[in-house]
Amino acid sequence: MSKNLRAASSIQAQINPDTQDFSVIDIALRKEHAEVALTALNKQIARKVIKTETSSQVCPICKNSVNRAYCGTCGQLLHY
Ligand SMILES: [Zn+2]
Repeated sequence: MSKNLRAASSIQAQINPDTQDFSVIDIALRKEHAEVALTALNKQIARKVIKTETSSQVCPICKNSVNRAYCGTCGQLLHY
């Protein structure tokens, strides 16, 4: 099971505790799951593209050139 799928299952269990005994999940794993969710959530918050010496439109997170709504490399939502 991937890290992302584990996190999604864990968070789903928090939303609906009847489906799983969330209390047995280790605190370190809960932290990991929260970090995965935060990373995914942050990608959905539009970030302004930046300008560098070599490109006029660069993803502010991974620094790759971009020209679409989402960064093709890291998936960050962008605005121009
Ligand atoms: Zn990026």
